[in-house]
Amino acid sequence: MSIFRADRKFERFEDVKPDFLKKQGIKLLLCDLDNTLRLHSEKEPAEELAKWIKECKKAGIKIVVISNNGRKKMMQKFCEPIDVPCVWWAKKPMSTKLTGAMDKYKFRPEETAMLGDKWSTDVLAAKFAKIRSYKVEHRKKIV
Ligand SMILES: [Mg+2]
Repeated sequence: MSIFRADRKFERFEDVKPDFLKKQGIKLLLCDLDNTLRLHSEKEPAEELAKWIKECKKAGIKIVVISNNGRKKMMQKFCEPIDVPCVWWAKKPMSTKLTGAMDKYKFRPEETAMLGDKWSTDVLAAKFAKIRSYKVEHRKKIV
């Protein structure tokens, strides 16, 4: 497991299918917010995000948003309609908030993965937490 590489790469979050996660034994998926689940400019969850979250939940996968973004109110407002807990000011690549979520929701490292767009924060934090890292391309507006 190279520290320089995510364990798996995807184009977008929608490509991370609940079936794939289940096969990988993932029960807790920690997700970065900006440029992973949303464009920086998106104030509300996109329809495809709400749908994906719903599918993951239906498959028994717990989702927690872990972001370095410090805007607590904005994050709570964004995450409330999709009903996922969020952690702000996470200071990734530090892994404390990742391991904190695993402790809180009682999942083991082998059941947990971090999904994000940045190597220097998301992937590295996953390595430090000794969990799997899934990397998506920087989110772009689809026109
Ligand atoms: Mg990001």
